[in-house]
Amino acid sequence: MAPVGRFAPSPTGLLHFGSLVTAVASYLSARSRNGRWLVRIEDLDPPRMQAGAIESILQTLSYYGFEWDGEIILQSNLVRQAAYGEALAQLAPYTYPCYCSRKQLQHSAKQGRFGAIYPDTCRSAIPALASHQSAAIRIKTPDHIIGFHDAIHGDYSQSLHAEIGDFVLKRADGLWAYQLAVVVDDAYQGITEVVRGADLLDNTPRQIYLQQLLGYPTPQYTHIPLVLNVQGEKLSKQTYAPALLLDEHSRRQNLYQALQFLKQNPPTDLATAPLQTIWDWGIKQWNLAPLIQ
Ligand code: GLU
Repeated sequence: MAPVGRFAPSPTGLLHFGSLVTAVASYLSARSRNGRWLVRIEDLDPPRMQAGAIESILQTLSYYGFEWDGEIILQSNLVRQAAYGEALAQLAPYTYPCYCSRKQLQHSAKQGRFGAIYPDTCRSAIPALASHQSAAIRIKTPDHIIGFHDAIHGDYSQSLHAEIGDFVLKRADGLWAYQLAVVVDDAYQGITEVVRGADLLDNTPRQIYLQQLLGYPTPQYTHIPLVLNVQGEKLSKQTYAPALLLDEHSRRQNLYQALQFLKQNPPTDLATAPLQTIWDWGIKQWNLAPLIQ
């Protein structure tokens, strides 16, 4: 069966070289096997969004020669928001309201390898006592190990309860959490392979757990290496990564360099070839093997 991949940017800033590398890897992975490639805008968090970012991201993708299939989905869409509500209702036997404030959590949470571990404060609290306050909704995490096989990193597993703790599906301010929305939408869009940055590797067991409870299939996961700046930081808005330039020379150069970063070993003369030629080469030559650790 032909794969269905996706690129799911958050419109908190403009696309930079790191986003390009992720987009290129997911695109080539799908297209090299005659698959479909979808774009989803993860605009779940209005306060963090940058005005004009959605339009700019889509324009940049199309200038760089990406061709997406089907409609672009926005997570802010009311139909999608309702779908997250339905999934939450389905998960009700495993969820509970949490009234802990950020401050309380700072004092009580244990620090784990992946950040703060929720100390189960509200897990067995009686909700009625605090029902006048707005609550976050958390999901009870299991003690058993959840593992998967990443196409680059190999076998990866976590004990969610011990290493992550009960995590939030809906925030106290009413916004949906990434973990729930990503799982609902990957299933809704029929995604069979998730190719994304390695910073999300440790989020994957949480997503697989939700897929299992919701009866969704688990896609194949490929977590590609992160592009770092000279300080060794991940390129992002926070680290002031420059937005991708759109002139023709920059587009070819960036696409070529993305192929180099992805260890595809593009021939030198491809660097000055037309954009379409670079794409054709990439689709034909795509090979994950050099990235496997
Ligand atoms: N929206 C996320 C980001 O921009 C990516 C989520 C994903 O690929 O699962 O970092």
